[in-house]
Amino acid sequence: AKTQRLDKLLSNMGYGTRKEIKGIVKKGWVLVNQNVVKDSSRHVDPYQDKIIVNGEELIYKEYIYIMMNKPQGVISASFDPRIETVVDLLPEKYQIYDPFPIGRLDKDTEGLLLISNDGKLSHELLSPKKHIPKTYFAIVDGKVDEEDVARFNEGVVLEDGYKTLPGQLRILKSAELSEIELTIYEGKFHQVKRMFLAVGKTVTYLKRISMGNLKLDENLELGEFRELTEEELDILR
Ligand code: URA
Repeated sequence: AKTQRLDKLLSNMGYGTRKEIKGIVKKGWVLVNQNVVKDSSRHVDPYQDKIIVNGEELIYKEYIYIMMNKPQGVISASFDPRIETVVDLLPEKYQIYDPFPIGRLDKDTEGLLLISNDGKLSHELLSPKKHIPKTYFAIVDGKVDEEDVARFNEGVVLEDGYKTLPGQLRILKSAELSEIELTIYEGKFHQVKRMFLAVGKTVTYLKRISMGNLKLDENLELGEFRELTEEELDILR
């Protein structure tokens, strides 16, 4: 497991600045595994070590669950040597959990992205057998019509020969630049864009608005994020 400096851990958890924490530690108010620790640079393992501050045990949560409104220009990965990732957008206090994105959105796709360190939840949400619905809003170059709705309902054959599961297409605006919502039940690479290409149209803007029963919080600006509420976690699991 990952260890970190005691002062850093405590300041991340809101116990004060590093300087204030140094003072608290010097006074002998912090115990690690029943022993008073006087050196705030001491490394601890927050999952394994029992840490007590002012007589209260520090509850270090094991998992974090974050909803982000992903902006364009960042990739859905934890680390990349060159390109900014969605995890790079998170502050240090979340990075210590080693979070990763649950599923992927293209670099130029916006919207709902879950970021967590819960491998089990990730597995469940991404399992191809579960058919978790994902709904996207898109602007499409071309007039989307009822024929497209019918074709998506049947499943469309992509350029590589794969036939998708049925998808539900709702037309919000049928014009030279159409606006639609599409719900799909699988997650092939570039799936929404490729489904439209299969009917001769190009997606020019794509945003995910829901995943399972979880909806993107409309109050989140692009690049903003927040932890999921208990209720949201319950509907996801
Ligand atoms: N479909 C796509 O084409 N791109 C995404 O980012 C998500 C779904």
